[in-house]
Amino acid sequence: MSPAVIALGSNLGDREANLRGAIAALDAIEGVTVTAASGIVESNAVKPEGSDAAAPDYLNAVALVQSELPPQYLLDELNRIEAAFGRVREEPWGDRTLDLDIVAFGSLASDSARLTLPHPRAWERPFVIVPWLQVDPDALIPGVGRIAALDAATSSEVWPFDAAALFEGATR
Ligand code: ADP
Ligand code: MG
Repeated sequence: MSPAVIALGSNLGDREANLRGAIAALDAIEGVTVTAASGIVESNAVKPEGSDAAAPDYLNAVALVQSELPPQYLLDELNRIEAAFGRVREEPWGDRTLDLDIVAFGSLASDSARLTLPHPRAWERPFVIVPWLQVDPDALIPGVGRIAALDAATSSEVWPFDAAALFEGATR
């Protein structure tokens, strides 16, 4: 079993339902157990040029899981869940019903294009760092340091989204 950190995001369709369904789908993967989920945060979409107020706002959350699956198989399952939620890959940074990224997988480092670990942009993304801090205030990104010390941890670019808890504790 390895601990892994999964970032969830949605800015199309019923965004809250997409995140809620994704948590359930993660926990339903054979060999994967969700152990915690953050609250939901909201933020403006970010495109390569910067914040894009014209695009629909994102809802994001972070889940902690324990995985018996090796990381590349976990990513296959995440891609399958994205597709099941109607994810269409049209352009990088494009609007999406569901994005599931592996932020970290234990202390593993990987630099393949298909799977880079830790996720190379997580440290600078408030919509990852703020919810991650809620579920693991002491988290470290190898090579980066404590997430609590990052600028992204105190960013005003994300705000809380009022919703019932995504996860109510161990389900099995
Ligand atoms: P993004 O999440 O960057 O907005 P996509 O979800 O379309 O974009 O993913 C782009 C590519 O990133 C995918 O082909 C995937 O294989 C690759 N990738 C590399 N590292 C990771 C990771 N840690 N988690 C998820 N996808 C990753
Ligand atoms: Mg992704």
